[in-house]
Amino acid sequence: MNAVLEKQATIDFPLIFERSKSGRRGVIPPQAAKAQGVKLEDLLGADNLRRSHLPLPEVSELDLVRHYTGLAQRQMSVDANFYPLGSCTMKYNPKVNEVAAAWFTSLHPYQDPSTAQGALELLFHLAADLGQITGMDAVTLQPAAGAHGEFTGILMIRKYFESRGELEQRRIVIVPDAAHGTNPATAAMAGFDVVEIPGNEHGEVDFVALEAALNPSVAAIMLTNPNTLGIFETRILEISAKAKALGIQLYYDGANTNAIVGRARPGDMGFDVIHLNLHKTFTVPHGGGGPGTGPVGVKAHLEPFLPTPIVARAENGFQLEFNRPNSIGRVRSFYGNFGNLVRAYTYIRSLGAEGLHDASSMAVLNANYLRVKFQQIGFETAYNRVNMHEFVAVPPKGMKTLDFAKALLDYGIHPMTVYFPLVVSESMMVEPTETESLETMDRFANVMQEILEKAKANAGWLENAPYNTVVRRLDEVMAAKKPMLTYQKLSK
Ligand SMILES: *Cc1c(COP(=O)(O)O)cnc(C)c1O
Repeated sequence: MNAVLEKQATIDFPLIFERSKSGRRGVIPPQAAKAQGVKLEDLLGADNLRRSHLPLPEVSELDLVRHYTGLAQRQMSVDANFYPLGSCTMKYNPKVNEVAAAWFTSLHPYQDPSTAQGALELLFHLAADLGQITGMDAVTLQPAAGAHGEFTGILMIRKYFESRGELEQRRIVIVPDAAHGTNPATAAMAGFDVVEIPGNEHGEVDFVALEAALNPSVAAIMLTNPNTLGIFETRILEISAKAKALGIQLYYDGANTNAIVGRARPGDMGFDVIHLNLHKTFTVPHGGGGPGTGPVGVKAHLEPFLPTPIVARAENGFQLEFNRPNSIGRVRSFYGNFGNLVRAYTYIRSLGAEGLHDASSMAVLNANYLRVKFQQIGFETAYNRVNMHEFVAVPPKGMKTLDFAKALLDYGIHPMTVYFPLVVSESMMVEPTETESLETMDRFANVMQEILEKAKANAGWLENAPYNTVVRRLDEVMAAKKPMLTYQKLSK
């Protein structure tokens, strides 16, 4: 069992507020205003000063360090644990990215662009690199998540049809039934009707059903390739030719392009729009559900609709261009999630074209290695064929995927994605990514085999796992219906 986890379960871990002792200090910052003889009320206005004491915890530096280190040890993270989360692509976040992002922390977004030329130059080159990687003509870096990028992309498609006087007629957006839930949600939010297309027995979209759904009332088809089952759509060129013939826009959900970066380009497959998740494929941290980064690339005919401002070359350097009459407008304050853009640019530049190509190869090789391992140890895979960067497995009949996910926690392994895609029941979606070693993947397979054997030998063992985590099984219904959102010290 995992020693760290075992320890966590037994050690009392007080809140930072419980550690607080009145008057205790970690750091005493200099009082700049006072030192210069300036009164705060003159600086801020008397009305803006606090009238009461701010009830912050008062702790020593050491207590503060233990607080945060303790919190970090109670989490699963890519830095500490194998994290094979399919579709959500939890990549290792190279530390050099953080160094580069820190270079820019003294910039303020309200600074005059003439004093932030280096930052604008970086944005300009990142957009160009992403355009080259995806085969698109122009890129906006503004959207703050994948779903936000989808919404931006579909709004551009909407505006495009509006500009052609076709919006009344183009009411439908087609999505495959295995699509990420954000696809139909995006289309509906942008005012389109959603039509779902089933998959076939090979894990690809049903070509005949798709063909039958195509007509001039369709505005867009949202696809991804490899699709959400990790399978390459072998008829993609036929699909895009059919769409083109009817003036339908092809949208690529590029949240997770770990199999194709440096090898194949959605623009060359006939796609008109793509969003990327820099916080998946381009090694930016997911940020605990916080801001992500979802740039959108478009072909030339959609370029006039890009959000403003765009970063453009000026006479002596770079500028933010606002004067674009057909733009859908701004979708994010300032210029997107800048620190993340620096991280992604650092990643792209540190690998270079060859390195990106190799990373995709390794991602696919690792996923297929584990796919075969899973078959050898007693799991079935949903489609018996070579996958791309991820694969879907299912446990033996009568066993529940959720129980395997819980059991993995005792071994210090973050569970794979469970119950997605919805089209495979009891699905376990596994994505090891390119950076995992052979030893780590073998250990994962051995652990899965051990769990399977223990479950078969001891009735009830699997259903009650995990045994050594801080909390074990939560009442998920109550957690959703009556969430406890304030801290309560539980008696042991
Ligand atoms: C993660 C993901 C999204 C949504 O991205 P967010 O940044 O979570 O909004 C969309 N599509 C696919 C296929 C994804 O994996």
